[in-house]
Amino acid sequence: MKKFSHVNALTIDEAVSILRRYGDRASLIAGGTDLLGKMKDRILSRYPEALVNLKTIPGLDFIKEENRILEIGALTRLEDIAIDQTVRGGYAALAQAANRTASPHLREMGTIGGNICQDIRCWYYRHPNNRFPCLRKGGGRCYAIEGDNRYHSIFGGSVEEGCYAVHPSDTAPALIALDAEIRTSKRTIKAGDFFQVEVTKTTVLDEDEIVTKILVPRPPENAKSGFVKFALRKTIDFPIVNCAALISSSEGKVSAARICLNAGYVKPYRASRAEEVIVGKTFNEADAEAAGSAAVSEAKPLPHNGYMVQIAKTMVKRAILACG
Ligand SMILES: Cc1cc2nc3c(=O)[nH]c(=O)nc-3n(C[C@H](O)[C@H](O)[C@H](O)COP(=O)(O)OP(=O)(O)OC[C@H]3O[C@@H](n4cnc5c(N)ncnc54)[C@H](O)[C@@H]3O)c2cc1C
Ligand code: SF4
Repeated sequence: MKKFSHVNALTIDEAVSILRRYGDRASLIAGGTDLLGKMKDRILSRYPEALVNLKTIPGLDFIKEENRILEIGALTRLEDIAIDQTVRGGYAALAQAANRTASPHLREMGTIGGNICQDIRCWYYRHPNNRFPCLRKGGGRCYAIEGDNRYHSIFGGSVEEGCYAVHPSDTAPALIALDAEIRTSKRTIKAGDFFQVEVTKTTVLDEDEIVTKILVPRPPENAKSGFVKFALRKTIDFPIVNCAALISSSEGKVSAARICLNAGYVKPYRASRAEEVIVGKTFNEADAEAAGSAAVSEAKPLPHNGYMVQIAKTMVKRAILACG
């Protein structure tokens, strides 16, 4: 690993001013479970000269509920979210998503802020020593389009349709289904507007912007949320596809639905067509299956990932039934 300075920030303002001083030569570090692996493997052509440690800033690690809004500090560890009784009770999709993320060790280190700001997973992009300087790193081509794309997007690409790397977060679809907001050092952003596909960027955050907390409105009494994930291994693995849903019902029928897939597209994929199909229906297998089919009606898989379409369809169906 190349040498870098490590700065312990004591306040958000101090962290912001260090980011401004270094520009794109600095990076924030929270749990480090994503960032340090990237640095050790030297997957990018450039490395941060300075890491700004957020863990030394007091008051960013908390879970509380006030006035029917759940607030989670950006530095809250995934394990704490997974076991918190308030989250498990009122915001089940988020607790379940945190609980299915990575492994116990990673959940003890990894934070919610880092989880939504983590980088993409594409084995060409992540190959050690920057062996594949692809489009997403500012290079000229995508290696996955003609190569091994079995874990890539089934809904098309971006960076002018050239990159098909998926967004891997488990908590992101839960936050979108629950209609959360991300509070930063500058503004408040809807979770659904937070993710972006740019060269070496996965969010809309500016270079000097820091996630400080996440706000989740308590779902109405007649609503239930759930999260499901398909991964090759049960213990520690990124999702092949995951899905979170928040479904309200009245007199046995679905009255409102928010459904979000992830790991199947370059950013979390709101399954709007599935939402349209399921509203007005009862919770039964056939209607949930029809919603699953609607969710993947615009899928355009690559040569090696057609199997993910069926998995995405099933994830939507199971997420809906989990809310029944
Ligand atoms: C083996 C392995 C398996 C994994 N499996 C999964 C999985 O199944 N599901 C899943 O979702 N993830 C998985 N991950 C990813 C890991 O869980 C997430 O990377 C973790 O939540 C990141 O949190 P962190 O605090 O360690 O982030 P860091 O590594 O510290 O940071 C990640 C990125 O976010 C930025 N960042 C961190 N905090 C902030 C903030 N407050 N404001 C702005 N930017 C910030 C950093 O600058 C960095 O770019 C896995 C990782 C590994 C190594
Ligand atoms: S899918 Fe994206 S990250 Fe992967 S090789 Fe292609 S351009 Fe690079």
